[in-house]
Amino acid sequence: MRVVLLGKPGSGKGTQARRIAKNANIPTLSTGDLIRQAIKTGSELGKQFRAYTDKGALVPDDLVLAIIEERLDKDDCKNGFLLDGFPRTIPQAEALERWLKEHGAPLDCALNINVPDSALVERAVGRRFCPQDGSSYHVKFAPPQVEGLCDQCGAALEQRNDDRADVVMARVEEYNNKTAPLVNFYKSRRLLVEVDGVGTPKDVGVRIDKAMECSPT
Ligand code: AMP
Repeated sequence: MRVVLLGKPGSGKGTQARRIAKNANIPTLSTGDLIRQAIKTGSELGKQFRAYTDKGALVPDDLVLAIIEERLDKDDCKNGFLLDGFPRTIPQAEALERWLKEHGAPLDCALNINVPDSALVERAVGRRFCPQDGSSYHVKFAPPQVEGLCDQCGAALEQRNDDRADVVMARVEEYNNKTAPLVNFYKSRRLLVEVDGVGTPKDVGVRIDKAMECSPT
């Protein structure tokens, strides 16, 4: 199965990506994670990435394409993958389309998780994650048992640098300007599957599984 996941910052994309990929036994390829890993190493490329992510701007297409194509070429992608946060622009979607064609590996669908803009900031700003095991929480909607500590391993939870309200608003604006056109891009290719992303992760998961059984519109 090869799936593209679309959704604004705070739409629950990462949570659903991990769940779908686990059930389908395919890797999740998150360009956001790849970019954060590069930033953590302190490399020259990481420094370039940080200049964009800190202000909520998209990283230029050529840099993103270089890291995702390297990842797609790995062996674990042979039986499928779920793309979380890629593509985010029309040129990225066209580059992916070329890669898929060259590899004889068509997409099954592009899943779009819809959440109104008014709910996104609260959802993103309250997010916390465990730096040890990657598990995710929300201070209001999915709090840990002990405030600030991971339920699984007890590590101190952290907040992403770009989950501050002003940066989230900039990220939503970038999405509306540059990523939203992908909805029509995938609709025109009859690959789009739309899902309502309002509700608990469990409710949204049930809707996604149902929608993915049906053919895209
Ligand atoms: P995410 O974890 O998907 O929310 O991505 C975090 C940040 O990484 C974004 O705000 C962008 O600055 C950058 N980023 C992630 N994926 C892409 C992409 N496909 N194109 C451009 N920038 C990206």
